[in-house]
Amino acid sequence: NRIKVGVVFGGKSGEHEVSLQSAKSVIEALDPHQYTIVPIGISKSGRWHVGKNAVKSLEEEQKATKKVTSGPAASFINEQVGGLTSVSAQSTPEPLPPTLAGDVDVIIPVMHGTYGEDGSIQGLLELMDVAYVGAGILASAVGLDKIVMKQVFGSVGLPQVRYVGCTRKTWKTRPQEIIEEVESTFGYPCFVKPANLGSSVGITKAKSRGELERAMELAAQYDRKIIIEEGLDVREVEVAVLGNDTPQVSVAGEIVPSSEFYDYKAKYIGGTSKLIIPAELTNEQRQAIETYAAQAFQAIDCSGLARVDFFIEKSSGKVIINEINTMPGFTRYSMYPKLWEASGMSYTKLLDTLIQLALERNNEKR
Ligand code: ATP
Ligand code: MG
Ligand code: MG
Ligand code: MG
Repeated sequence: NRIKVGVVFGGKSGEHEVSLQSAKSVIEALDPHQYTIVPIGISKSGRWHVGKNAVKSLEEEQKATKKVTSGPAASFINEQVGGLTSVSAQSTPEPLPPTLAGDVDVIIPVMHGTYGEDGSIQGLLELMDVAYVGAGILASAVGLDKIVMKQVFGSVGLPQVRYVGCTRKTWKTRPQEIIEEVESTFGYPCFVKPANLGSSVGITKAKSRGELERAMELAAQYDRKIIIEEGLDVREVEVAVLGNDTPQVSVAGEIVPSSEFYDYKAKYIGGTSKLIIPAELTNEQRQAIETYAAQAFQAIDCSGLARVDFFIEKSSGKVIINEINTMPGFTRYSMYPKLWEASGMSYTKLLDTLIQLALERNNEKR
């Protein structure tokens, strides 16, 4: 009997397009002899498109509302899922998730950022009582909110950059206070980020007060909460974590961004950023990264998978944790699967493992 797998993608997120890329790779790699695949697309306006015409129907909705989802990833999903699923396509998009609960054995929520990686979809899946890949509600929410994440990491003693957190409202009403705090705590350059996002969307490196002000305005367009971090001169190293109660840590990979920092363009457009796997590290650095990654995973009560991003300060060689991503980019070319490939686990085997971990975790709950 084949396991019925729902692959959820898209969503009301600044990372909608990235999610389509990840979902494309996942659907392509799942063994059709082992799994029945049910594609489930969520449009930018939050409507659900289920079944083999999910992407097409999602595209149609977004064209009608002038939010286009197209390109190679979208047409690929359309082609791949034709004939793979036994669920009949819905002709009209649903404002709420259709009756999926009894219909699939496990869901892979391949969504990044808000509503996908922040506990929202996880909460819905809990209510629907269906197993799903990756972190639960708590870990998702804590992992995505860079301010709460840093508070939790700080509480278990993980080394981090200095930072200032604030709300959009404080920025709009008392900007001077924030500027003063930033300038007296660490100054420039600093990184301004929407607290709950990913893929570097809305992030600016600010080198002066004027740039800080513009960066705050941009970040405020994306989130109610904003974090400003001390900008360090760093190397960037990432590891992949896999497991539930006894998480395994992969070899480390280094990123050499093609832009001044690893921004959206350097991540997805042009693709000239270099990934070096395994990263060249001292034994102490390697050990610190491995220990911190497992600690970070457990500190937020994570399960399934996570990619933990580190900085190595160039001047001192010191390892600093940057962040945890509970649903990291998952295309074939993304760092997370590549790190497991370098550690001896193929992309397809990785998906099998994640599905097993999801089913195990679901059984543990009862
Ligand atoms: P993703 O989830 O896609 O990894 P993100 O949107 O959560 O990204 P971060 O990883 O926090 O964003 O930051 C994006 C990039 O900005 C980093 O990879 C790094 O290049 C740069 N960066 C962020 N914070 C700092 C910092 N404090 N000092 C130096 N560089 C930084
Ligand atoms: Mg992130
Ligand atoms: Mg992310
Ligand atoms: Mg990152």
